[in-house]
Amino acid sequence: MHDMADLDLFPKNYEDARARFLKLAAQAEGPKVSDRWVVPSATGDNFTVDTVYFPPLNKSKTLFVIISGVHGLEAYAGHAIQAMAMSELLPKLNRADAGFFFIHSLNPYGFKNHTRGTEAGVNLNRNCSAFPDLYRTKNEESIRLSDRFIPKEPVDSERCFLLRQMRKEGEKIFFDDVSLDEFIKGSGLGQFTSREGLEFGGFQPEPQIAKMTEALKNILPGFEDIVLFDLHTGLGERARLHLLTGDVEGCVDPQLFAQLFKPEEDRSVYDFTPAESEGFYQTLGATNNIFPELATAGQRICAMTMEFGTLGHTLDHQLESLNQWLREHQGSLYGYANPDLGNEVRADYLEKFFPKDPEWRRQILATSREFLTRVFRRAGVLR
Ligand SMILES: [Zn+2]
Repeated sequence: MHDMADLDLFPKNYEDARARFLKLAAQAEGPKVSDRWVVPSATGDNFTVDTVYFPPLNKSKTLFVIISGVHGLEAYAGHAIQAMAMSELLPKLNRADAGFFFIHSLNPYGFKNHTRGTEAGVNLNRNCSAFPDLYRTKNEESIRLSDRFIPKEPVDSERCFLLRQMRKEGEKIFFDDVSLDEFIKGSGLGQFTSREGLEFGGFQPEPQIAKMTEALKNILPGFEDIVLFDLHTGLGERARLHLLTGDVEGCVDPQLFAQLFKPEEDRSVYDFTPAESEGFYQTLGATNNIFPELATAGQRICAMTMEFGTLGHTLDHQLESLNQWLREHQGSLYGYANPDLGNEVRADYLEKFFPKDPEWRRQILATSREFLTRVFRRAGVLR
């Protein structure tokens, strides 16, 4: 049985995770290229994103890219999934025509400090582009929502300011005159104006995004098919795998998708969730979006987000998730009325992205194992 060993794959902390990733990369057989991207920090910590690339042995047909920790503290689960894939699946894969590129803990500051964003307050999943235009995008709606609903003062309540403005009209939730859906979609998109606003995408690529872009530019050419699995937690039904795509054109090649993913047949393993579903939202500068930017004509892309739910996806869960998100955001910027409240908010926040429940942990690993096995088999790299 995998059960006990599976729980051991969840790391104690960032350093523990990095050490295991490096060990697994070193132990893997065959040709490989390891790299280490230093992420400068004012904290004096030695932050690195570690990568290992297993090139195809004969010809370049399919490239799989597997990323953990785009959102810092989601790397607890992302690391465990990568460690399972590297230790169990990789030795069984036929690497003749396929390459495998593992990027570990893309936001080490956030992993260590239990934040989603980087030290500069940037959400890396709004920071990805090969072109400068992204960082000039204006999302005035998001700035208005942040100015209106995030008080520039210490957190002093169990309920964030937004939820204290809540009212119901029939089944529909409003905060003053702004509907829940408008709030989620307006702020979720990302903005490039203010660190204090929600889902800040930065003014330029963060150091690790610049490095990742450079690495992908080197690796991608020559492959026919490119598949991204970007590992996340925190959105959707509890312990359920939601397969999401990027929103920009070219993120998902329909033929490649049809070959690798069979949402009907795979219903026991995942839900395929289009970006416009209620409670989910479109984004600018997502990791998925950079793949079509870097691909050359004729390359087929499937840039997928693997998102495991934690709290759940009922209305109450979504509201609680909002509460935890906004309290942590406000607290990280303006502090807390007392230390106990700060500790409580931070503990809730960690639980939201990395539940303690061993059942949740076992289930996401079992699901990832089954999911990757099916995809690798359909890609012809696993018999
Ligand atoms: Zn995430």
